[in-house]
Amino acid sequence: MSDPRTDIAHVSVHGGHTRFGDGEDSLAEVVHEYARQGFAWVGLTEHIPPVSDDFLFHGELEAGETAASRRAKFDEYVSVARALQKEYRDKLKIFVGFETECCTGYIEHVEELSKQHEPDYIVGSVHHVNDVVIDWTTELYAEAAAKVGGIVELYCAYFDQQFELMGALKPAVIGHFDLIRMHDKDYVERLQMPVIKDRIRRNLNRAKEIGAILDLNVRALEKGASEPYVTGSILEVALELGVPCVPGDDSHGVATVGRHLEVGISLLQGAGFDTDWPMPRGCS
Ligand SMILES: [Zn+2]
Ligand SMILES: [Zn+2]
Repeated sequence: MSDPRTDIAHVSVHGGHTRFGDGEDSLAEVVHEYARQGFAWVGLTEHIPPVSDDFLFHGELEAGETAASRRAKFDEYVSVARALQKEYRDKLKIFVGFETECCTGYIEHVEELSKQHEPDYIVGSVHHVNDVVIDWTTELYAEAAAKVGGIVELYCAYFDQQFELMGALKPAVIGHFDLIRMHDKDYVERLQMPVIKDRIRRNLNRAKEIGAILDLNVRALEKGASEPYVTGSILEVALELGVPCVPGDDSHGVATVGRHLEVGISLLQGAGFDTDWPMPRGCS
């Protein structure tokens, strides 16, 4: 199936968080839903397990998880995903990947996971700045900002970490490129500040160099934002530099498979991006 108004294929470069991670349903149920909705292809990109117990999330701690138990679940995720990839071969193109973190020790950790699991691709995402989570509560966001001396500095540190991640791991997809704006109501203006703007252009140039595509993450709309990640002003630069951008539903269960996808598709179409969606590097 494709979009009824535009005949554009439904795809997701960033999808399928399930009970193996912080999602609600089983991976089989989520994959079934992608197939039911007629997606052309989907990348399953579960979160990696934490580097150590220090990086367990609140809910994981409450559930009595450890880094080792999360690691075991992750290994199981990959084998179940590979089995589904085979099972659905004739109905839905599935890529098996994972989504990174960017906190102390992540480079070696991700390299080791990649070596073990040989993912079809990885989504390079930053959810921490200096090891403080920036996409959870406003309190933590403020704590992360205080640690570096203010919100502008927080943006700079976020984009510097992202730059390092892209250089070290060469992800095929950059997850929610401007997630750092999540708790900043003045983000539109802030993104125009030269110290931030320069970093964005630098990072997009690096995305271009490594052949990465941007995740147009429509889950932002689910969480109350007025536009997906990536914001309009950054999309303009991406388009200028020739960095592709492809929708990602970042689904966290059956209910969010494909949700808000049409908004993302028409936004990218309106902005002038290629809607004959390129696949992540190395995928076919
Ligand atoms: Zn993410
Ligand atoms: Zn995600």
